[in-house]
Amino acid sequence: MTNQQEGVGKRTEQQATSGQTSGLSFEEATLRHLGYEVIDEVTAYLSGVRDRPVWQPMPDDVRETIRGQELPDHGYSFEETLALLRAVILPYPQGNGHPGFAGWINSAPAHAGVLIKPLAAAMNPNCGIGDHAGQELERRTVQWIMELCGFPLHGSAGVFVSGGSEANFTCLQAARHWAAQQDGWNVRQEGVQGTHPPFILYQSDQGHFSIRKSAEAMGLGSNAIHVVPATPSFQMDVDRLYRRIQEDRAAGLRPFCVAATAGTVETGAIDRLDELADLCHEQGLWLHVDGSYGAFGILDERVAPLYKGIDRVDSLATDQHKWLSVPIDCGCALVRNGAVLRDAFRVTQTDDHEIWMSEYTLQRTRRFRALDVWTIVRTAGRAGLARAIAGNNEMARLLARLIASEPDLELISSGPLSIVRFRYAPPALRDQPSVLDRLNKALAFEIQRRGEVFLTSTRFQEKETLRACIVNYMTGETDICSMVEEALTAGRHLLSTGEF
Ligand SMILES: *Cc1c(COP(=O)(O)O)cnc(C)c1O
Repeated sequence: MTNQQEGVGKRTEQQATSGQTSGLSFEEATLRHLGYEVIDEVTAYLSGVRDRPVWQPMPDDVRETIRGQELPDHGYSFEETLALLRAVILPYPQGNGHPGFAGWINSAPAHAGVLIKPLAAAMNPNCGIGDHAGQELERRTVQWIMELCGFPLHGSAGVFVSGGSEANFTCLQAARHWAAQQDGWNVRQEGVQGTHPPFILYQSDQGHFSIRKSAEAMGLGSNAIHVVPATPSFQMDVDRLYRRIQEDRAAGLRPFCVAATAGTVETGAIDRLDELADLCHEQGLWLHVDGSYGAFGILDERVAPLYKGIDRVDSLATDQHKWLSVPIDCGCALVRNGAVLRDAFRVTQTDDHEIWMSEYTLQRTRRFRALDVWTIVRTAGRAGLARAIAGNNEMARLLARLIASEPDLELISSGPLSIVRFRYAPPALRDQPSVLDRLNKALAFEIQRRGEVFLTSTRFQEKETLRACIVNYMTGETDICSMVEEALTAGRHLLSTGEF
């Protein structure tokens, strides 16, 4: 008792000497005052997002200021740091967050998620070890994710990770562990250097490169990925997949996993999960689905039927920092047979640490990711999330219609979800593919530079194209109209100046 009291006294004394003098802590009144300053900054940033350019290039002097930051010997005041952020960081965002931003697949942060972040940092639990509310909340929130995606809860397990790439990696580790187990060996012990037949993984030509990175990181090598062509609707060709599996077996290889996609980054296509589940079941393969972009699209009733079979897959990668508007970074790996996920990562042999989330993933010390996700889902509710997602899909359909009605634009693809691909192609230039390619390659930057909207370009089916992906809950009709107008204006500008 007395010891404890002494301890408390000592701690307070230490704070006054080392904490505050080191700049690592503030007195209560200062903490509150600075906290209000930060929240004022956050409010101004979020509510003023429409008044600023979507994106602007960093002037050279700003870039130099950032690059020239000296490691300080003695700390600066927090106010001074905030002032510097105001001058050189806050005005130069990536652009996501603005309703005119439709580049890559990056959403705006849900306000509830922004506000709750300081609490996660203040508590700062290690959500990999120990017995505390953070890990309990993660397990429950992961189940909410399962429910939202139509993934079965009973017997399943899941874990929050850094994003879709790591979610794919985590699921594929489980798949590989399971496949080796089926063959009577332990890949965690033996690795893939042994004499077992080479593992083969199938992906369509519309699949994401993070699957390849996973295969490389797992030591399988990218040659272990056999690419199956897609159908004209950009879905994995199930008949060709079947034939490829037979050929590979005949050649002595060991097919172990099909990595399908629910919402490709190219066109938003959703593979035929039901047919793939039948095939994988019959062939004894693990069916993984990369739903990093599209998994939550199932909340839009209009497209929900396309997800038939999602409840029969072995694993599902999802990204909370895309369509759930969770501030970056957060993904979630879901595995149907929870014991397999744990077996693929656990370091203890007893059940003592069954509740330690580090037993289900690569990371040991993990931030409190569940708090943002749980708060956002709890604030928006399933209905709120569904409205935002269905609204994005609706805006994408509007964009596709507007593009199709503009003679100078060519609609390349518009999927079931919120990705639209198009290009600037005045009829007089349509027989000059190389000119159109150069023009469209320069177009994305020209559009970005103007600061009204933000689109990115990628090559698709041998053509340079613009891609718009609508995942911002604020994007409305006026933003969609601006995307079309800006593409036309920027295209005409490039043509008239010849600067491409
Ligand atoms: C975004 C995305 C990924 C990668 O996810 P990160 O969160 O960027 O790591 C993988 N696959 C698909 C289909 C994606 O949309």
